[in-house]
Amino acid sequence: MERVDAVIVGSGQGGVPLAVDLARDGKSVVLFERGRLGGTCINYGCTPSKAFLAACHTGARARLAGPLGVRADISIDFPAVMKRVRSIRDSFGSQIRRRLDDARVRVVEAEASFVGERTVAGGGVVVAAELVVIDTGTTASAPPMKGLAGAGYMTNETFFDQERLPASMAVLGGGYIGLELGQGMARAGCEVHVIDPNARVLGREEDDASAALETALAQDGVRMHLGRTAREVSRDGSGFTVLLDDGSTVKAAALLVAAGRVPNTAALHAQAGGVRLDGRGYVIVDETLRTTAEGTYAIGDVAGQPAFTHVSWEDYRRLKAILAGQRRTRNDRVLAYSTFTEPQVARVGVTLDEARKAGLNAKAVTIPIDKIARAVEWGQSNGFYRLVIDADSDKIIGATMVGYETAELVHVVLAHMEAGSTWQVLDRSVHVHPTYAEGLPTLARMFEA
Ligand SMILES: Cc1cc2nc3c(=O)[nH]c(=O)nc-3n(C[C@H](O)[C@H](O)[C@H](O)COP(=O)(O)OP(=O)(O)OC[C@H]3O[C@@H](n4cnc5c(N)ncnc54)[C@H](O)[C@@H]3O)c2cc1C
Repeated sequence: MERVDAVIVGSGQGGVPLAVDLARDGKSVVLFERGRLGGTCINYGCTPSKAFLAACHTGARARLAGPLGVRADISIDFPAVMKRVRSIRDSFGSQIRRRLDDARVRVVEAEASFVGERTVAGGGVVVAAELVVIDTGTTASAPPMKGLAGAGYMTNETFFDQERLPASMAVLGGGYIGLELGQGMARAGCEVHVIDPNARVLGREEDDASAALETALAQDGVRMHLGRTAREVSRDGSGFTVLLDDGSTVKAAALLVAAGRVPNTAALHAQAGGVRLDGRGYVIVDETLRTTAEGTYAIGDVAGQPAFTHVSWEDYRRLKAILAGQRRTRNDRVLAYSTFTEPQVARVGVTLDEARKAGLNAKAVTIPIDKIARAVEWGQSNGFYRLVIDADSDKIIGATMVGYETAELVHVVLAHMEAGSTWQVLDRSVHVHPTYAEGLPTLARMFEA
C-alpha cells in the first residue's frame, strides 16, 4: 500500500481543479478515473450538448426568420455537426490530461473502491491518504420497464456517438436533458416524440415557463406525450415501439432515455471507507461537504448537490477554503441555472411560490418580452422576465427569465443578489439601449406601483 497526501475519486468538474491545485501546492495526489477524463460535463453533458445545439439553433433561427423578411432554405449536415461535437469534446479532454500531467497529478485509469478508512484501491493500486475526495457524479438511470433493458437505447453517454440522423426519435423524459436534445434533433430534421408522466415540461419551473417552452417545441414539430407513462418497450428491424399507459404507442427509429440520474456510488464500496449513503445512494455530507468519515469529503452531483457543472466547480473552491480553515458551507452561494432550449429558461434564486412557502413576504413582477424594444426588433414574442423580492427588505431574491439568451441575462440578477441589492438599485441602473437587459430596470420599476 502506498501513502499519499490526497486521493481524488472521479475526474469531474470539481475533482480535476482540486487535484491540480493540491499538486501545485506540493502535495502528492492520486486521481482515479474509470471513464473518460473530465467527467460528464465535457464528455457526455454540457460541452457536447451545447456544441450540438449551436448548430441546431443556428439553423432554426434562420429557418424561423421569415417574419423578419429572411428567406432561408436550411439543411443540417448531421454527420458534420456530430464530428465537430466530438472534436471539441476530444480537445477539452486533451487539455485536462495536459493540466493534470503538468501539475504532476498521478492519474490511475481505473474504477476505485474504498478498502478502508481513507484507503482506496483500483487498477492494482492501493493508496491511503489524509484527504480523500469523492467526485464520482451521476449516470442516466433506466426506469424499470418491460423490454427496456437490452433494447439498445441511447443515453447522454452514447447520443453524441451518432453518425447519422435517425428519421425519428422517442425521448423518455421531459426534463432539461430530454428537451435540449429533443429540440436539437427536431431542429436537425428528426421527428421527435417526448414522453413524460408529468402534465408539463420542466415541472420544477413555473407554469408559464413550461407553457412558453411547450409553445416553442410545438413550433419545432416536437410531439409531446405529457401525462403519459411509458410502460413497455419493444424493438424490431424498423425500430422501437413504446407502449404508453393509455394503450397508445409511439414508434421511432431511435430511443433516448433521459429519465433521471443515479449517483455513481455502487462501485465505491462506501461502507468500507466509513462513508454513509442516503436512501437513493447519494453520499451524505454535512455543511462543510464532509462525509461521515474523517478526512473524507464529497463534492458535485454525487453529494446530492444541485446537479450542475458550476456547482461542482464551486464545490472545489469551497472545499479548498474549508480545508484552509475558512468558514464556507455547501449552501453559501446564489444558485442560477438554465435550460438551453429556445427559448432558454433561466432561473436564479427562488420563485414567488417558493419564497412564500419559506414564509417570506414576497412579491413578484413580470414583463412579457414583447414589451422590450430589442425583442420586438428581433421578432421575439415568446417569453417573459419575472423578478421576485422580499417586500420587507426590498431585496431581490429570485428571477425566472424565459427568452432569447436569458442564460446570459440572468447573471445581471445573480450579481445583484450576491451584492444584496434591492429592486431600487436595479431600477436606478441605466442599461444600454436597445438590449434585452434594458428590460430589467423597467421590470424593477414595476414594484413602485
Ligand atoms: C446531457 C447533459 C447536459 C448537461 N448540461 C449542463 C449544462 O449545460 N450546464 C451545467 O451546469 N450542467 C450540465 N449538465 C450537468 C453536469 O454535466 C454535471 O452536473 C457535472 O458534470 C457534474 O460534475 P461532477 O464533478 O459532479 O461529476 P462528473 O462530471 O459526472 O464526473 C464524475 C466522474 O467520476 C468517474 N467515476 C465514477 N465512479 C468512479 C469510480 N468508482 N472510480 C473512478 N472514477 C469514477 C466518472 O467516470 C466520471 O468521469 C449536463 C448533464 C448532461 C447529462
